Amino acid sequence: MPYPEALKDLMKKVEETRPARVERKQADKEFPMMSLEEREDILKFHPDYIDEGRREIKIGPNKGYKIAHEVVDMLEAKSRVEPAKVDLTKADYETDVLVIGGGGAGTSAALLAQEQGAKVIIATKLRHGDANTMMAEGGIQAATKNWKDSPYYHYLDVVGGGHFKNKPELVETLVSEAPDVIKWLVELGCNFSRFDDGTLKTLHGGGTSRKRMHFAADITGAEMMRTVRDEARNRCEDIKVLEFSPAVELILNDKGECAGALMYNMDTEEYFIIKAKAVVMATGGSGRLHVQNFMTTNHYGATGDGLVMGYRAGVGLCFLHTIQYHPTGVIFPEQAEGILITEKFRGSGANLVNIKGEQFVNEREPRDIEASAIIRECVDRGLGVPTPTGKFGVWLDSPMIDHLSGEGTVEKEFPGKFILYKRFDIDISKEPMLIYPTLHYQNGGLEFKKDGSTAVKGFFIAGEVGGGTHGENRLMGNSLLDIMVFGRIAGKNAGEFAKDRSDLGQLSLEHVDKYHKEMAEAGIETDRVAPMLLPDYTPVEIKERELTSHYVGTIR
Ligand SMILES: Cc1cc2nc3c(=O)[nH]c(=O)nc-3n(C[C@H](O)[C@H](O)[C@H](O)COP(=O)(O)OP(=O)(O)OC[C@H]3O[C@@H](n4cnc5c(N)ncnc54)[C@H](O)[C@@H]3O)c2cc1C
Repeated sequence: MPYPEALKDLMKKVEETRPARVERKQADKEFPMMSLEEREDILKFHPDYIDEGRREIKIGPNKGYKIAHEVVDMLEAKSRVEPAKVDLTKADYETDVLVIGGGGAGTSAALLAQEQGAKVIIATKLRHGDANTMMAEGGIQAATKNWKDSPYYHYLDVVGGGHFKNKPELVETLVSEAPDVIKWLVELGCNFSRFDDGTLKTLHGGGTSRKRMHFAADITGAEMMRTVRDEARNRCEDIKVLEFSPAVELILNDKGECAGALMYNMDTEEYFIIKAKAVVMATGGSGRLHVQNFMTTNHYGATGDGLVMGYRAGVGLCFLHTIQYHPTGVIFPEQAEGILITEKFRGSGANLVNIKGEQFVNEREPRDIEASAIIRECVDRGLGVPTPTGKFGVWLDSPMIDHLSGEGTVEKEFPGKFILYKRFDIDISKEPMLIYPTLHYQNGGLEFKKDGSTAVKGFFIAGEVGGGTHGENRLMGNSLLDIMVFGRIAGKNAGEFAKDRSDLGQLSLEHVDKYHKEMAEAGIETDRVAPMLLPDYTPVEIKERELTSHYVGTIR
């Protein structure tokens, strides 16, 4: 849907103030950055700082930890199955390494496990590659150029970005392994953007002191995913892929070690069992929980399933009290709601302006500050721009980019977004975009060590489902790196671990029974079940009219 007349009228204010703002940019006169005090003050508008938005978990290893209601709801929910009804004596599949999740972390883990001689199963909820990895645009950080950069500077940037709370050993591993990861991806055929002489192009990422963000045009994640997915498919003798097959519980043995997972076939709606000598959890993030009703950039499968399964099995959580909201997500047209508008627009000169056409924040503030400033403009100052359905956003003045860098720049530099908006009859080189912060990344997750292992023997973690590497705030480009570094490490160590394991003992879901008991003792009475598997957007009144009566969460 193109902009309706009411929005076109409001847009005139942006057009009126644009020439002066372009002139200011050309003269290098920046809107003032906030002082530390101002930054601290504005953060009260950030969802992480809204106390009513969270509560303490009543059960499990992190009892008393205060995190978002929507995450606690998932953790304080019942299993999809009654453990007593599951026959664990017969496994449907047996393998050395089971990888749960077919995104970047899971697929790179599978490759490295296979290189240790392991037979691997990747079981994934949707299709192989339907994942947040696929959607990443901006790039991947790595100090590959020795000139003026090294893992040392990268380390400082990561911990600075994480508010100095990151787990140092995880950061050290992240930055030291980064150059090798780029080399590995290139050798597998990943087409990063290059200069004519063949050297890899790099850009500045937000909050970094050096230009070390490698990219493949504006489809970096898709290109990385294509690379590792193709490689996994080439090794089909050893790596089997089960699609539309989410895990719903980990299976432990009589010693409390991990021994596989209980799976669900989304086509036949049957549960089945995979027995495995080692398991790597790589289920990604939880944007689809829509914390505090925020829209999200995440794919449909990002429902925090791994957190639930890992927590029930006894693995603790860390840094889940912080969530990253990307400042610029589409708020109109609604069909594209939540979709990420990359920082590169602001980096290329587009201002953020309010209903009066006034710039209200420097566009290079950190993500949490930028998001808070937009929320303050809309919620507190009443200077947001209303959408036809009563939401509010602010303008991202993309046409400024053509004014600053020449006609055609927007179309050439941002082909993905240019085409997306064209479908709605909006030309973003002539008309600004209406945006609002969108839930983007789960900063925290399950606790793991630098070798990918966890408190449960035989159970490894990789990617966004794990916490600690990015402390309280992840910097741009470090997640694509994280999933490859820790995906490879978890896969390698899971493969090694599987080699030495022969007898898996007796399979058990006793931990699930115990969890249910703990819930009852804590007085938690609920019909909720988790993992959620898919978000449910069906309005209640429609659900009431549906003839299928029995649902477990979102799935029949
Ligand atoms: C729009 C967007 C842009 C981004 N841009 C960048 C960027 O430029 N640079 C950067 O560093 N980071 C970026 N990120 C973040 C980064 O892409 C992700 O954090 C990262 O790719 C996560 O990888 P992952 O393998 O851990 O999870 P994912 O890639 O999400 O993969 C998880 C997989 O697990 C599957 N799964 C989920 N639950 C289950 C279950 N119960 N059983 C089996 N399978 C399950 C999912 O379906 C999915 O296939 C971006 C994220 C988004 C959404």
